[in-house]
Amino acid sequence: MRIRDHLTRLGEPAFRFRQVMSAWQTSSAETFADVHALPAWLRAELSEQFGSRLHPISEVLVQRDEHVEKVLFATASGARVETVVSHYRAGWDSMCVSSQAGCGLDCTFCATGAVGLVRNLTADEIVAQVMHPRWTQAGRPRPASIAFMGMGEPLANPHIFDALTLLTARVYAGMSTRRVTVSTVGFAPNLDRLVTEHPQVNVTLSVHSPFPGERKGIIPLEERFPLAQSLEILDRHTATRRRKAYLAYLLIAGVNDTDDHLAALAELVQRQTRPDLFHVSVIRYNKAAGATPEYRAPSPTGVDVFVNGLVARGIHATRRRQLGSGIDAACGQLHADYLSAHAAGDRRRIPLSAAAG
Ligand code: SF4
Repeated sequence: MRIRDHLTRLGEPAFRFRQVMSAWQTSSAETFADVHALPAWLRAELSEQFGSRLHPISEVLVQRDEHVEKVLFATASGARVETVVSHYRAGWDSMCVSSQAGCGLDCTFCATGAVGLVRNLTADEIVAQVMHPRWTQAGRPRPASIAFMGMGEPLANPHIFDALTLLTARVYAGMSTRRVTVSTVGFAPNLDRLVTEHPQVNVTLSVHSPFPGERKGIIPLEERFPLAQSLEILDRHTATRRRKAYLAYLLIAGVNDTDDHLAALAELVQRQTRPDLFHVSVIRYNKAAGATPEYRAPSPTGVDVFVNGLVARGIHATRRRQLGSGIDAACGQLHADYLSAHAAGDRRRIPLSAAAG
């Protein structure tokens, strides 16, 4: 975006920007100096303005299994961010992108929260995860859907709004707005802005407990922006726009999986003006580095019982399918592994060679 504005200021024709975009996505050029379609003076000018590197992020590590590919990227400033692509059998891909390096919200189940906030990603760094040549050079189409469920709380980063504009602009990523999901633990002021400025974007709100006192212990942001505030925004949004809203419920054994939780969660949905437009995704807790050590995964049957209990109460609910169990698919986990491997001075734990292809 900044490059296009700069080219416009220089009075360059529109095709110059298309040449930069083409190099960005499809060539092996790593620096502006490598983009030979541009005149030499412009290559030098862009290097001076934006630094020599063409891409705001570069690949550091890759882990993959049959269904999931996790890539750890480094920004020019050295911050690490994680992007996960899930390949579904039906032949489509879904990409999970990061909005922040680390996160400052300290949710007690989360590997990224344990790192703390390094910084907000810029809009270019967010979009570059989707448009990086590692995907286009492999001949892959754009993912069928994108979810802001990677590292960071997207609504705590004001650059998310520019990133959404770029992701859905035809000249950039050209994604359909309806194929983009923003997942939040309830950063209410920017949730309000999101549903106002991008009403077609899907929203997933993490609930994780229907009881405010308990939720505070799982998602400390509850103290600042209570769940009720975010639900009120989604209630208005669903009622006026007739858009679906998604509620995520991370099921942790012995913590939030009792009959009381089930009944209170169902009641919370039924209280909404259009409960039929709310969908609850129940997610089985997976052990995460830095999470509260007492947290345990419920049994698969326990998850089914909880989902069925919601359905029996008239709530739209499903268990969220989780791919990549062989490689710790929870976002932030590759980054956590990377940090611990480096802290231990053991680079072999995560083979850099795996980054190839
Ligand atoms: S769950 Fe999301 S908001 Fe909470 S600490 Fe992790 S990344 Fe941050």
